[in-house]
Amino acid sequence: MNESTNDPVRLARRLLTQTLGAEGDALVLERETRQSLLTSLRASRDAAPAAPSHHGVAAVGRPVAVAVAPTATGVTIEDADIAGAGDLSALAELVSRCSRCELHSTRKQAVFGEGAANARVVCVGEAPGAREDETGRPFVGRAGQLLDRLLRTIGLARESVYICNVLKSRPPNNRDPLPGEVAACSPYLLRQLALIQPEVIIAFGAFASRALLETTSALGRMRGQLHEYAGYPVVVTYHPAALLRNPGWTRPTWEDLQLVRRLLDGDDPNG
Ligand code: SF4
Repeated sequence: MNESTNDPVRLARRLLTQTLGAEGDALVLERETRQSLLTSLRASRDAAPAAPSHHGVAAVGRPVAVAVAPTATGVTIEDADIAGAGDLSALAELVSRCSRCELHSTRKQAVFGEGAANARVVCVGEAPGAREDETGRPFVGRAGQLLDRLLRTIGLARESVYICNVLKSRPPNNRDPLPGEVAACSPYLLRQLALIQPEVIIAFGAFASRALLETTSALGRMRGQLHEYAGYPVVVTYHPAALLRNPGWTRPTWEDLQLVRRLLDGDDPNG
């Protein structure tokens, strides 16, 4: 939105600033009254495009126009650069200097992902948290340890799978990722999957599940069945961090992982 003197958002910001400032209740906007400001804001809201159909969750891989900013070195990373990355190392190098969305300006470091380049299973979470942002590794801390234990229940060592997130940079204060951020980052996940060619994806948590499956459904409604994303089978389950808060979800999570095990064993996933 432009920053003209008639920009209602800019005017509203000024109003708030003044309200919070030393002038108390005084409202001093040139040529504006409270009523005219409210009228402008209502008109702005009515003219705004429809809200995203996914309640703030952009689907990974959906064609969304993204304004791509240049990196700190002045080099813009385009979709074609990402699609042309020949291996995971080359892709990780792009991510490390990516500024395709504003999260690059607040992250400590990007969290690309880690694991076996030929993994049969790719685990996908939402976005890096504080510990991940510090360490540059996905799924660390207590949630990461729980993930390791969950994987072991179906005979998988952490080192044998690949672990990453929908977003490669941490949203400030762990806020929900914005649709534009998901759209900007999704080509990296798609390329990771194309390079790894997993037999199954496990989407951990509601956000990752909704982003991959282009749905607004509750996680509980998505569980217990096989989905598909970009041609790969997808199993959804609770995020380990949510499990730590809700131990009662441990049994359903174990059941979801049994579905993964059956797929890997070539058994009927519904058996
Ligand atoms: S979240 Fe993704 S698109 Fe945004 S800056 Fe980080 S790596 Fe780039």
